[in-house]
Amino acid sequence: MIIKFKEKDCWNCGGTGKYNYWSPCPNYGKSMRKGCPVCKATRKAEHKYSQDYELTPCKMCKGTGKLMETACSYVPGAVLAAIPVAVYRDYHETTWNEAYLGAGFAVSVLNYSDGKNLTDDQVIKMARNHLTHVQYCNIGTEVEGGIELCDHLGIFTGTLGFNVRKVMSNEEVKLLKEYCYD
Ligand SMILES: [Zn+2]
Ligand SMILES: [Zn+2]
Repeated sequence: MIIKFKEKDCWNCGGTGKYNYWSPCPNYGKSMRKGCPVCKATRKAEHKYSQDYELTPCKMCKGTGKLMETACSYVPGAVLAAIPVAVYRDYHETTWNEAYLGAGFAVSVLNYSDGKNLTDDQVIKMARNHLTHVQYCNIGTEVEGGIELCDHLGIFTGTLGFNVRKVMSNEEVKLLKEYCYD
């Protein structure tokens, strides 16, 4: 399943297309022993930024107020909530990292020591609570104009806590099981 990127209000200007770019004193970087005629600075690092700025076209959206989402945009909560999850217990962290170096985590929760005493449901609830700011690249693979959604999000528990990571396919699930002690 592919989630298409949508056009959203530009995060930089809030959709207005205008943004306050404060401009530095035109003498910025120059030594001014007698004091800068513009901003009164006497040392080159002390020139000030203009306080009476003008609203100028936003550089992020080129004044349109709109930006297309990208793989780095945050996934809306409703989409996150709809992605299935699975718990992988006692996951053999080091070996997996060697095999999948650079695989991104959607979320990483460390330093809870009672993981072994938690049920799957409790671990899932805890993971869901932490899944708030997740980028598209962490829930799938980027394709033209969108993201191919992962099969599910795997919650990998270990002695230190858990990581949540996308699992793309059944083959990957099989491979994962080999890396779990279960
Ligand atoms: Zn903008
Ligand atoms: Zn100045």
